[in-house]
Amino acid sequence: MAENKRYKTFNDELRLRFGCRVQRVSLDAGFSCPNRDGNVGTGGCTFCTERGSAAVGVQTGLAINQQLEQSKEYLRGKFRAERFLAYFQAFSNTYAPPALLKTIYELPLQDPDIVGLIVGTRPDCLPEPVLELLAELHKRTYLWLEIGMQTMHDSTLANINRGHNHACLVDAVKRCKDKGIRVCLHLILGLQGETREDMMQSVLELNRLGVDGVKLHHLHVIRGSILEQDYLSDNLRLMERSEYVELVADVLELIEPQIMIHRLMGDGGSQLVAPDWSRRKLEVLNLIDNELAKRNSRQGSRLLID
Ligand code: SF4
Repeated sequence: MAENKRYKTFNDELRLRFGCRVQRVSLDAGFSCPNRDGNVGTGGCTFCTERGSAAVGVQTGLAINQQLEQSKEYLRGKFRAERFLAYFQAFSNTYAPPALLKTIYELPLQDPDIVGLIVGTRPDCLPEPVLELLAELHKRTYLWLEIGMQTMHDSTLANINRGHNHACLVDAVKRCKDKGIRVCLHLILGLQGETREDMMQSVLELNRLGVDGVKLHHLHVIRGSILEQDYLSDNLRLMERSEYVELVADVLELIEPQIMIHRLMGDGGSQLVAPDWSRRKLEVLNLIDNELAKRNSRQGSRLLID
């Protein structure tokens, strides 16, 4: 663990593995999503927008190589990054025939600055031929598969219009793990109707599933999402900053120490509607560090004493 962090950070893993600053380059490869095109549903998840959860800076519409070049330039300037992971982030990046997926995944790997791939998707977009392709890539590059879990509770999954249940996620993770693929799950804290107990159950489920990494997100509202309508009509309660800080500290104390923490909160960027406090991410991350220090606790510490 890093000296100044009480949890196992993805940045440390990258620095240790590659010996330099490595940044993710978010890409939009032009995929769609079965929860938007009518195959599973229409309208998408309530927190998503027509950009398919792409990061704000993603140059939608540009060729992958152009997106890579532009983002690398920016990340070199901002973070002094030396190497990069190509992050297929927008929409469902395994939702295409395996031959097409292979062609697309191979593109960034031709670039010597790219040291690995991150592929984001839904649990119902992982048929065996796609997993075989990912397993083959895993053998020759540094690969992470990110899958949206969001919660383990089927009633919440239905409320947020995910279009799959938790059993689907459990099955997908098991099949990935059987093939040795590194899996990072996305979890949202503060979903409508969920109690603290519900959220903690989802956190403990991460441990039970034996995943390699997790991305935590606070529920936030992005312009153009279904949630925005709820928020504007006063039908949505969002967490206060202090509430989220304490909750994340509680959550980290329950996560197995070997699980890598890829993220502790989301980025709304310029499309963020609320909560306002999430615009100052560094402040929130520092408060989480302070909270853990105040408690003298760390990732997994409650698993040891409970
Ligand atoms: S599965 Fe992903 S891309 Fe599709 S609607 Fe949900 S969040 Fe958006």
